[in-house]
Amino acid sequence: MNTYRNILLAVDFSDYGHFVAQKAKSLATQFNARLNLIHVLDNIPMPDTPYGTVIPLYENTSDDLLEIEKNKLIRIIERLDIDREHCWLIWGEPQQEITQLAVREQIDLIVVGSHGRHGLAVLMGSTAKGVLYHAECDVLAVHLRDDLKPFAV
Ligand code: AMP
Repeated sequence: MNTYRNILLAVDFSDYGHFVAQKAKSLATQFNARLNLIHVLDNIPMPDTPYGTVIPLYENTSDDLLEIEKNKLIRIIERLDIDREHCWLIWGEPQQEITQLAVREQIDLIVVGSHGRHGLAVLMGSTAKGVLYHAECDVLAVHLRDDLKPFAV
């Protein structure tokens, strides 16, 4: 394969996620590819919604924690100007949900940060490693150095 058509950016709202997002956006522009976005809710209890684990982004829920996470994702969607239909907020285990969505949506490149909320202490973060190991498509881990300036979500 010499081009990418369908790129999936995985965001965890960590301080350096901005650099990962910019890299994915610029790759999508270069390849004229569709950009998809996923955030996996793994730090709040399973939201009490009638929809199951895939949370609709543009409907109000009565769950305060969920609304906070939704709004963070919506800010990124607007900043990157991504089509809403290709954005996903899913409750579950990040590595599993990212790789399963990639298969379902016929993604050909997953973009993650080399590190996220799990920090720079290890050589490569646990989600990044898990995605690399389980994905059925190419994976780009954007190298995040500890001297980068954090960027608020
Ligand atoms: P980690 O391995 O958890 O330090 O995170 C590495 C990268 O995996 C992050 O920079 C994100 O790109 C991705 N990632 C981690 N957690 C999540 C999550 N909950 N939802 C979506 N992507 C995630």
